[in-house]
Amino acid sequence: MTRPAPAIVVLGNGSLATAQKIQQVYPGALIHGLAGRVEGADRTYQEFGATVRELYLQDTPIIALCAAGIVIRTLAPLLLEKGVEPPVLAVAEDGSAVVPLLGGLGGVNVLAREIAAALDVAAAITTSGELRFGTCLLNPPSGYALGDLELGKRFVSDLLAGETVRIEGAAPWLAQAQLKENPQARLAVHVDHVEREAVANELLIYPRRVLVAVNASVVNLPGAIRDALHREKIAVQSVACLLAADSEMASPALRDAALELGVPLRFADDVGALAELARDAVGQPAALLGDEAIAIAVAEQPLDPLSIGRARGRLAVIGLGPGAAELMVPAVKAELARANDILGYETYVRMAGPFRTDQVMHCTDNREEMQRARHAFELAAQGRSVVVVSSGDPGVFAMAAAVLEALHESDDASWHNVDLEILPGVSASLATAAQAGAPLGHDFCVLSLSDNLKPWDIIEKRLDLAAQADLALAFYNPISRSRPWQLGRALEIVARHRTPQTPVVLGRDVGRPGQTLRVITLGQLTPDQVDMRTMVLIGSSTTCVFPRVEGGKWVYTPRWYQTKPAG
Ligand code: SAH
Repeated sequence: MTRPAPAIVVLGNGSLATAQKIQQVYPGALIHGLAGRVEGADRTYQEFGATVRELYLQDTPIIALCAAGIVIRTLAPLLLEKGVEPPVLAVAEDGSAVVPLLGGLGGVNVLAREIAAALDVAAAITTSGELRFGTCLLNPPSGYALGDLELGKRFVSDLLAGETVRIEGAAPWLAQAQLKENPQARLAVHVDHVEREAVANELLIYPRRVLVAVNASVVNLPGAIRDALHREKIAVQSVACLLAADSEMASPALRDAALELGVPLRFADDVGALAELARDAVGQPAALLGDEAIAIAVAEQPLDPLSIGRARGRLAVIGLGPGAAELMVPAVKAELARANDILGYETYVRMAGPFRTDQVMHCTDNREEMQRARHAFELAAQGRSVVVVSSGDPGVFAMAAAVLEALHESDDASWHNVDLEILPGVSASLATAAQAGAPLGHDFCVLSLSDNLKPWDIIEKRLDLAAQADLALAFYNPISRSRPWQLGRALEIVARHRTPQTPVVLGRDVGRPGQTLRVITLGQLTPDQVDMRTMVLIGSSTTCVFPRVEGGKWVYTPRWYQTKPAG
C-alpha cells in the first residue's frame, strides 16, 4: 500500500535548506514551519508539541529537523498506548545526521536510508535485524502479511543468534536479505495462503492472494466469511480485499465486515453470479471456491486491491472555521489530508491548503454553488475522496445545503451510493462572539442579510419578529457592493425594538490575519463601518458591557431572563 507523504517539521530558518533537500526525495511532503520563525514553509504551526503529536496520531510519517531528545519528549506521553505507529525520524539541522526513532514496522529505516542518501551521510540504523539482514523481516512488503508479531520477534532474535533458516514458499523480497539458508534448518519462514496452526520455530507470512466476493444480505457477514475461508482452509490473513457489486455500495453491513476483517472493500459492475464477479475482478489466473453467497478466488500472485474494481467514493463537506488553523476541528484536518480532490471558492480552497502535488484543486466562483455540488458528486461517484470546502460551518449559509439539494434532485444511483459526510466548523458568529465574551449567551437568531437567494420582504419580516422577540441577532452577509442599502434598512427595523444603547459587536476577518473586533452601540452603528467580511452581533435588552483590564470590553448576555415589555 502507498505510504502517506511525510511531514517535514522545522523549528528555525537554519534547517530550511536541509528540509528542502529532503522534500526533493518526497515531492508530496510538506514543510511545516514554526510561525514567526520560519519563512517559506508550506504550512505554519503555532506549537511544536501539539503539531507533532497530532501528526503522529494521524499516522503521518514525521521527519523532525531538531534534536532527537525533543522529539522523544514530545511523543513520550503517546508511546505506551500505541500499537501501530508512523515512522518518526530526527534529522540534524545541518543534515549531518539521520536518526530513525520510531516506526520500525512502518518502514522508518527505509526512510532513514533514503534521506541519508539524499544528504550524503550514513543513517544511524540501530535495529539489529535490519543491520544484519538489510531488511526488516517483520515488515514484509505490500501484498504480504506477517502472521504474528510477537512470535516474529523471537524468530528474528534466534536468527540474530546465528541460526540458519529454511524458506518454504515464494518470498521474492527475502532474496535480498543476507539469510543463512539451509534445507535442514530448525527455523523456517513459511509463505503460503493456507490456514495453518503456527508450528514452533516458524515465521508465517501470508501472501494476500485471496479475494472474497460477497452479498451484503448474508447474515453475520464477517462470521460467515471466516467460516467459508475456514472450510476451504484459507487463512484470513491472506485476504487482499472484499468485493461486492456496485448496487450494494452503500451497505453498512459490507462496510462493517471489511472494517472488522481489516481489509479494503472494492466494488465492481453487477455481472450476476458472485463467482463471475470475483473471477473478472482478479485479472489473473485464479482458483474459484466458495458458494453463491460467498465466492473465493485464490490468485497465483498477491493482489493489489487498488487495481481491483473501485472503491466507494467519499464526499465530505467541511467547515474550515473562521480561518486560524487552531480553530479547525481535527476531523476536518484528517479529511483534507486524505482528499484526492478539493472543491470550493478559491479563497477558501487556498485557506485549506497547501495541498500535495497528488491532490487536485478545483477552484470556482463563489456563486456557482449547485454546479460545484454536482461536480463533487461526479468525482466522488468515480471512487475518489472529495472535499467541498466552506468557511466557518458548512451548514451555515454555505455548501452543505447545496450538496444535499443536488443529491435530493438526482436519481443517479452512483451519487446516492457516495459516502457523504458533513463535518462541522466554528461558524463566524460563534468565533466572533467568543472573542467579545458571550454576547450570544442566551437565545439568539442567525440571519443572512443577503437578498440574492431570498426576497427582501421576508428578511424584513424576520428581522422585525426576531427583534420584537428580544433575541440577540447575528447578521451574516451584512452588506456588499451589490447590496448597499439593505443593512441601513435592517438597522431601522431593529431600532424599532431596541434602545440606542444596545451593545453591538463588529468582528472583521475574525481568526484571520488583520482581524479587528469593535464593541459599539446600536446608536453608533452605521453601514459604512461594516463590509462583507464583517460579522454583526446585536445584543438583546439584557446584553451587558464592562471594561477588561487589558483594554477593550467584555460583552455578555446573561443566562437568566426577566420579562420586559417588548416595544
Ligand atoms: N459558513 C460561514 C458563513 C458564510 S456567509 C460560517 O459559518 O461562518 C459569509 C459571511 O460570514 C460573511 O459575509 C461574514 O458576514 C461572515 N464571516 C465569515 N467569515 C468571517 C470571519 N472570519 N470574520 C467575520 N465574519 C465572517
